[in-house]
Amino acid sequence: MGNPLRDRRTPSELAARGQLIEFSEKIGDFEQLAAIVESDLEALDPDKLPSDWRNATVYGQLAFGFAAAHGGLHPTGLWPAVEGRVAVTVDAVCQRCLEPFQLPLVTELRLVFGGDQAAAVEDAGYEVWEVEQDQFRPMDLVTEALVMAMPLAATHIDNAVCHEPEALEEDSGDRIRPFAALKSQMGKDD
Ligand SMILES: [Zn+2]
Repeated sequence: MGNPLRDRRTPSELAARGQLIEFSEKIGDFEQLAAIVESDLEALDPDKLPSDWRNATVYGQLAFGFAAAHGGLHPTGLWPAVEGRVAVTVDAVCQRCLEPFQLPLVTELRLVFGGDQAAAVEDAGYEVWEVEQDQFRPMDLVTEALVMAMPLAATHIDNAVCHEPEALEEDSGDRIRPFAALKSQMGKDD
């Protein structure tokens, strides 16, 4: 039977079968998304790194069908299309206070597949999603949608919990930062 989220298919196949996909999967399985989260978290001191960030659950529903020129999915419409919603709460680093926090991402999809002629249904509220090869994995679509939903600079939404690092001057001089810098130059071996 396969896994509809991971199997490679053409948009037309998915539309013709009216494929519905409901999923909840760990973010660690979405390689590109996990790579972005991981590189963001590299800014943290190791003791602040959330240990189970790879287990954050990506939820979603995708409904494939054909888009009609007047909008909505139909079994006999004109262009392969997908509608749906995907969501995940990722661990991220606040760009203001450099503390870890939980960043909710939610995005709605309303996409039509293909090239120029598909632009005709943009008026009906669809965006065009270019498929580079004939076949694609729906999970790649999910990845791209969530990457697009990521803010350029993530920060705490609630200013009350966001503290800029103002206490640094109060550090007594016995925090010997030059050694930390030297250690990171020498590699991470302890
Ligand atoms: Zn913050």
